[in-house]
Amino acid sequence: MNSELQQQLRNLALKRTIPFCYSCYQRAPAGVCKSCHSDDLMRLLPGHGCDYGLDWAIAAILREELTPVDIEEAFEDSMRSCYSEEVHVGWMSFDAVSVMKEMDPISWALAMSEWLEEEQSMNSLVMVEDRYYVISELKALL
Ligand SMILES: [Zn+2]
Repeated sequence: MNSELQQQLRNLALKRTIPFCYSCYQRAPAGVCKSCHSDDLMRLLPGHGCDYGLDWAIAAILREELTPVDIEEAFEDSMRSCYSEEVHVGWMSFDAVSVMKEMDPISWALAMSEWLEEEQSMNSLVMVEDRYYVISELKALL
C-alpha cells in the first residue's frame, strides 16, 4: 500500500473515532481528559469498542463497510474472460479454465499469485489486514 493511501486511511479512522480516556472510562473529544488531564488516550469506535492506535479501527471500518475480494473467484473470473473457449476431448466438452485448474493446479496457483501481484502493482487491489479490497471501492470511503 502506498503511503498516501495509508495516510488517508488513518485520517478516515481519526474522523470516525473519538479520543477516549480508559482510566476514567469517558470520551475526551478535546484530546485531553477533562477529569484526569491525561493525553494518553485510546480511540473509541462507536459500536466496536476502544483501543490504542488506529490500525484496528481501520480494519474494523473496512470490514464493516466493504466486501473483501475473494481472490480465487476474482482470478477465475479474470481468466474466464481471457480463455473463454471450450475444449473438446472425445465426445466431451469442457471450459478451458476448469481444465487448466484441474489438470495443473500448481501452474494455476502460480498464475494466481502473479496475477495478484500485478493487480496490486496496478493499484486495483490492496491488502489491508490480511484482506484484499478493490481500491476504487476503498477510495469511495475516503
Ligand atoms: Zn481520564
